[in-house]
Amino acid sequence: MLPFSRVAIIGLGLIGSSLARAIRQDMPTVAVTGHDADPGVRARARELDFAHDITDTAGAAVIDADLVILCVPVGAMKAVAEDIADSLAPGAVVSDVGSVKTRVANDLAALLPDSVTIIPAHPVAGTEHSGPDAGFATLFNNRWCIITPPEGTPASEVERLKIFWTRIGANVELMDPKHHDLVLAVTSHLPHLIAYTIVGTASDLENVTQSEVIKYSAGGFRDFTRIAASDPTMWRDVFLNNREAVLEMLQRFSEDITALQRAIRWGDGDTLFDLFTRTRAIRRSIIEQGQDDARPDFGRSHE
Ligand code: NAP
Repeated sequence: MLPFSRVAIIGLGLIGSSLARAIRQDMPTVAVTGHDADPGVRARARELDFAHDITDTAGAAVIDADLVILCVPVGAMKAVAEDIADSLAPGAVVSDVGSVKTRVANDLAALLPDSVTIIPAHPVAGTEHSGPDAGFATLFNNRWCIITPPEGTPASEVERLKIFWTRIGANVELMDPKHHDLVLAVTSHLPHLIAYTIVGTASDLENVTQSEVIKYSAGGFRDFTRIAASDPTMWRDVFLNNREAVLEMLQRFSEDITALQRAIRWGDGDTLFDLFTRTRAIRRSIIEQGQDDARPDFGRSHE
């Protein structure tokens, strides 16, 4: 039994178009309608043909849907909720894929009618690319999707959303939204902030040339540049909407980096060695749990 029969996707970039493609691949009888604010994206979505219908307004896309998934940047969720509020079918489940959960859950609850069930979610899957051409059907395979149901959400509705994500290949975990925001602050938001900083620092250096930075990037820098190439709108919105958790993690990070600075200054090799040994074990666990590739040189092809 399929959990939903008509899915509306608002925002047809990397995540929205991947969802549409995954539904077509794994639940081909489910009807998918899509909408994006950008007419160019709508035109491209029609060419790529990953949805049954692409509508010119968000309201028209959701009208008959029993599942609506908002796939826009976190800062645009409110505007979309306003656009669709009057068109939602009573009984529909409204979810999202935003990288921040507390703020989005509050915004949706304030704007959507009581006749729908709001169940925010976040698939922890993505790439540094954006737009409808960047999506692919297997993006969510063996990746975690964190569902953050508000208190009092009927268990049967949560179960339907769980089945939906499982059908397109994801592993599902339920979490409190505040805890989600703290966990993701350290596993995703802080690493992006560090990558943006280090790439910015390297590009501002005066005594090392740009061409040297690029030429010798295989020493580690290039792996930060991949993360730092991520979508500016999406990441601006993440930091503005998960401010407290990110600042808390940044405080911890600053203390830890100061301790390392001290160890380097005082020639304390044991501290450095112990930390690097611990971090190597974390990398091994990520590979063992299938969340990355063990091939040498960070999975790059040598052909
Ligand atoms: P994306 O590729 O940039 O796609 C977002 C699309 O939404 C764009 O086409 C954008 O159009 C459109 N949009 C913006 N405001 C809109 C509105 N008011 N109404 C309708 N469409 C609107 O971004 P994405 O990577 O798919 O990210 C979408 C969401 O997924 C974000 O909330 C992000 O936090 C979350 N997420 C991303 C990743 C990742 O790795 N990328 C992973 C997990 C979750 P314009 O370009 O014209 O603004």
